[in-house]
Amino acid sequence: MKYFLLFFVFSFFSFSQQSEYVDFKTAKADIAFGDLTKKEVFGTVLYEFEILKDTDSIFLDAENFKSINYVLDAKFSGSLYNGNQLIVKYSFKANTQHTLYVTWRVNPNKAMYFIDWEQDELSLERGQDIINKQVWTQGQGKYTSNWLPSIDDMNDKIEFDLSVTFDSDYEVIANGKLINKQVADSVSKWYYDMQHPMSSYLVALAIGKYNKKVEISNSGVPLEMYYYPQDSIKFESTYRYTKQMFDFLEDEIGVPYPWQNYKQVPVKDFLYAGMENTSTTIFSDAFMVDSIAFIDKNYVNVNAHELAHQWFGNLITETSGTHHWLQEGFATYYALLAERNVFGDDYYYWSLYQYAQELLDQDRIGESTSLLDPKSTSITFYKKGALVLHLLREKIGNVAFKKAVKNYIEKHEFNNVETNDFIREVEKESGKSLGEFVELWLKEKDFKYDLALESLKKSVFIQEYLMVDCEVFISRCKDYLNSGISDEAKSKIVSQSSNYIQKEDFKNSLKVRQTIAQSLTEIPIELKKAYESLLKDESYITKEIALFNLWKNFPEERKKYLNKTREIQGFNDKNIRTLWLTLALITDDFELEKKSYYFNELTDYTSAKYGFETRINAFRYLTQIQACQDICKENLEKATTHHNWQFAKLAKELLKN
Ligand SMILES: [Zn+2]
Repeated sequence: MKYFLLFFVFSFFSFSQQSEYVDFKTAKADIAFGDLTKKEVFGTVLYEFEILKDTDSIFLDAENFKSINYVLDAKFSGSLYNGNQLIVKYSFKANTQHTLYVTWRVNPNKAMYFIDWEQDELSLERGQDIINKQVWTQGQGKYTSNWLPSIDDMNDKIEFDLSVTFDSDYEVIANGKLINKQVADSVSKWYYDMQHPMSSYLVALAIGKYNKKVEISNSGVPLEMYYYPQDSIKFESTYRYTKQMFDFLEDEIGVPYPWQNYKQVPVKDFLYAGMENTSTTIFSDAFMVDSIAFIDKNYVNVNAHELAHQWFGNLITETSGTHHWLQEGFATYYALLAERNVFGDDYYYWSLYQYAQELLDQDRIGESTSLLDPKSTSITFYKKGALVLHLLREKIGNVAFKKAVKNYIEKHEFNNVETNDFIREVEKESGKSLGEFVELWLKEKDFKYDLALESLKKSVFIQEYLMVDCEVFISRCKDYLNSGISDEAKSKIVSQSSNYIQKEDFKNSLKVRQTIAQSLTEIPIELKKAYESLLKDESYITKEIALFNLWKNFPEERKKYLNKTREIQGFNDKNIRTLWLTLALITDDFELEKKSYYFNELTDYTSAKYGFETRINAFRYLTQIQACQDICKENLEKATTHHNWQFAKLAKELLKN
């Protein structure tokens, strides 16, 4: 999984160890829906399981079901249910095989989300905006047992085959391979087949209106890339490098991709950046980007991260939260390796350097955590985890590292792992004792910044970045920006010395110009013309900042700037359009006759028809200019109960003020 926000602390449940007594092997689930505005789900599931030790009862997790009952071995029926678990009482004997057929009805509180079913499809007719009616799931952190009676404990891996009945106008996407689709006029049934077991948090379903394109990996795996029909222009830039990274990771990890295909599906109002459900990654449609948006914010890293999880997390799964870094640290590290293959060494070291800075910041405020603490921050799990793997590889060498990882995966595939399982393989392959390394990097809380930096300084790129310093070498400050140093080093100079910026400094690259736009909030008159050229940069971030700063600095030219930028939407969150509308509203003499039209448009962006990212911009701007009136306020109230907790929290804060 990949988060938008850092410092989100994962919480882990502990489970009664039913897996000692019973091993659930296969599940054939059949899902259908009732009234989608009421989130009605109906289903049946047939489990096959083996009893490992004598026991007088077994259970399935099932949260807040409306009704649920079972038939054991096609003979004994029952419905003992306590609101969280379906309990099957029977004198089970070790080494016996059984079946359990479960029928249920539920309106899921979480883990399955119903998007826009209450919206009128024709209510949006603005540009490319379309109502996206969807159903999608999120198992990790939410529990699949909110809609499918299953086992929350990730140590019991089950082969889940899902079949789903739904409106024929939609696409139904689930784990594994689509082996059959029965079409009966307006309703169809999709049959998906898995060939291997997985933990229940990786079960996934995504339903919506999609097109897809398929590429085949070098090893013959179909890479199915889904997109909204209206987003065909964003397809290439969104999925750029997908096949290259897939081929690279298969080769780098040394173990073939373990599932029948790899599907990626964007959804509206997702909870995170992406989630690595087995063979079926679901990701936020905020990452569907056009070629301009790609420059500032793209799907490449999330794409690689969720793909790496298909091995690290899905094929081998942590036994408990203590070993969460085996999933997130590895996914972050291997994503970076895939990106290194695309963008080069400097990118790789620069990313690690930034991880080290974030870890240093965390250390300074006393919030460092041990990598083996199940309550660690995500910055520790993800970024310290990745850095530790980089350092470990450096310590033992490429050959031993790759061999150890391969052995580690092959030994534990389709099972669960602990940190020692990995360390043992590394020690065996390298012939080195890792006691000290484990103590220093895995167990200790403090982050050893100096040691990490020492390693990163092997990169000439990082050396240069550290050496270039306007605060130390004041006299050289002006020369730096005309020299051949990296864009990152130049950006450092710009943010250190925005007072020294001159006309010719604008001749630099897009990235450096973006830093100039950000740093130069007060624009000297002699730089006005150069600064105005930023409005034409192929970057939605630069355009947004430039529009705002120019509008603020040169009141007499406001009309000109607004006229130049009136056609631009920006990212999917309409960062430029919402700013433009706000400025148009508060610019006194600008198009008076259209003010109410602009106000209505900005207010409309607060409605649930739009993704929460757009709504955040609209809410913020309307609040800032004290124009969040009745409709906006009503939408803000509703947003406080939105399923995305970050959005709901922000809505509550805005409402308070
Ligand atoms: Zn992840």
